[in-house]
Amino acid sequence: MNTTVIEAEELRHMRETVSRTVNLLELCWGCDRVCECEQWVANESVPVWLCIECLSEVACRLETSSGPVSLPPT
Ligand SMILES: [Zn+2]
Repeated sequence: MNTTVIEAEELRHMRETVSRTVNLLELCWGCDRVCECEQWVANESVPVWLCIECLSEVACRLETSSGPVSLPPT
């Protein structure tokens, strides 16, 4: 068993994982942190990057500011 080959393979795999994760990283426009972000299109025109926390916060804020839109009838 050649440990050097295994280590090289592990390093290669690790590097691929890291680079894939780095590609997902963006600077969050909400809290200025670099993390995995999702693109949020504000006003259907301006795309911004928001992390999950800010995304849910914005979604919650939009929901409350625009009033109950899709509340099911009770
Ligand atoms: Zn954020």
